[in-house]
Amino acid sequence: MTAMKILVCIKRVIDYNVKVRVKPDGTGVETANIKMSMNPFDEIAVEEAVRLKEKGIASEVVAVSCGAATCQETLRTALALGADRAILVQTDAELQPLAVAKLLRAVAQKESPQLVILGKQAIDDDASQTGQMLAALLDWPQATFASKVDIAGTSATVKREVDGGLETLEITLPAVVTTDLRLNEPRYATLPNIMKAKKKPLDSLTPEALGVDIAPRLVTVKVTEPAKRKGGGRVADVKELVAKLRNEAKVLP
Ligand code: AMP
Repeated sequence: MTAMKILVCIKRVIDYNVKVRVKPDGTGVETANIKMSMNPFDEIAVEEAVRLKEKGIASEVVAVSCGAATCQETLRTALALGADRAILVQTDAELQPLAVAKLLRAVAQKESPQLVILGKQAIDDDASQTGQMLAALLDWPQATFASKVDIAGTSATVKREVDGGLETLEITLPAVVTTDLRLNEPRYATLPNIMKAKKKPLDSLTPEALGVDIAPRLVTVKVTEPAKRKGGGRVADVKELVAKLRNEAKVLP
């Protein structure tokens, strides 16, 4: 097989260091004036694709993001990390995982990659659905939560961490892979690469141009803050602890 093209899917999310606040009206979380970054699992996806290119297994790495114009900044980060070019499917509409999967299918049909790599989960909505839905829509094999990926010819061997051990799958390309935390340790973008990334191609498309219906299928009823943690207390000794567990918490007979 000739060297392959890899599509890497990137979501712009609230930075993982930010303490997320719920909007007072309970319709969602505050995103105005808040630091946004590439979803951490997508950094792992970019890293894996770039490593495959460095090994000569991939010939081109294309980063794709669906969302507002601000996603361009996140795509530039992917370009600085080693992606060759980027595609933004631009919309200000709310995108649910099914809509994203449909948009990504349309991009995959245009680009014909042999491999699509996504994060296993976006850390904002924790949906963990997009990769699976994309594979189903494309009718391609999927290997989710990958902790090791080896490509040989027209197939990929993927190790996945499952309860009590590792599962090894062999899938035929083209396929969809989603990344787990231990797949690799992403590099940092260097200043020269950040400068070079500014000159790499970044194309824009729209859901309409792709002919994709992105109407939401789910309604968010309410978003609330997690329950406040009740203050803990100190006990003088084990005897007091056991007494409290028996009489107050009632977890001991
Ligand atoms: P989720 O299903 O929302 O947990 O997201 C899983 C993965 O799908 C993310 O790690 C991304 O790789 C990809 N993804 C989700 N939303 C988007 C988006 N708006 N644009 C591009 N990729 C996305």
